[in-house]
Amino acid sequence: MTYISHSLSGVTLKVCFLLSLIVLISACKRDDDEQPENCEHFEYEGENGPTHWEDLCMNWLSCGGASQSPINIANAIIDTSLGAITTNYNAISTHIHNNGHTIEFKAGTGGTIVLRGETYKLKQFHIHTDSEHRIGGESFLMEMHFVHEKITDPNSLAVIGLMFKEGAENAFLSQFVDHLPNEEGEAHDYTSALTYNPKDVFPADLDYFKYSGSLTTPPCSEIVTWVVLEHAVEATDEQILKFREIVESNARPVALLNGRQISHYLD
Ligand SMILES: [Zn+2]
Repeated sequence: MTYISHSLSGVTLKVCFLLSLIVLISACKRDDDEQPENCEHFEYEGENGPTHWEDLCMNWLSCGGASQSPINIANAIIDTSLGAITTNYNAISTHIHNNGHTIEFKAGTGGTIVLRGETYKLKQFHIHTDSEHRIGGESFLMEMHFVHEKITDPNSLAVIGLMFKEGAENAFLSQFVDHLPNEEGEAHDYTSALTYNPKDVFPADLDYFKYSGSLTTPPCSEIVTWVVLEHAVEATDEQILKFREIVESNARPVALLNGRQISHYLD
């Protein structure tokens, strides 16, 4: 009896092993067959959320990289060699676009900034609610990203991050909050004949933090010199709510610093 049950359990084990192998192989095969690459669609929670972005599309592998954004800004080192940001923005007309992830203000002729002797051209700015970056662990109600391309290398970006906190009515936002496109797609874009200067939304004091990071949405390319303005500007709860109602929550969680240095420019 003992011998038979031993040999039986031996057979059972082999069968189990073979069955598991078949299940494993078919599971792998099913993954290949039934999960095509998803290079269009990402979300901020669930199966297509930030922790899965790198797996959704081969071109999004950078989302799992070591120099990702946003980050929590802490232990910044004062660097007197950094120099002030020079803004040479122009007054431009408003063209506001809802791309399904954010509200984007196109700014093709919006002018340039000069950062450490390099000139970057303003392409667009857009918003995130809540803020993506944190400063000393603190999160803000909204963050605006001004995306600039280096004139000599369009694959190198400088993005200025501007924080919004609750307070007085923001005159710059007042020009647009009643015209934000609720629906995704160009049919809903808003263009105004009125012109504005993007500089008008900046705080008077342009102290900033600088570090090397990435786009905060797929493909998360690590090509961004981040300039996060230290001083937040104010907007009313109602103004910020108008953005939030449309984009809901579009803030990527903070990434690890992984040894990167954060420099601090003080005027
Ligand atoms: Zn952004």
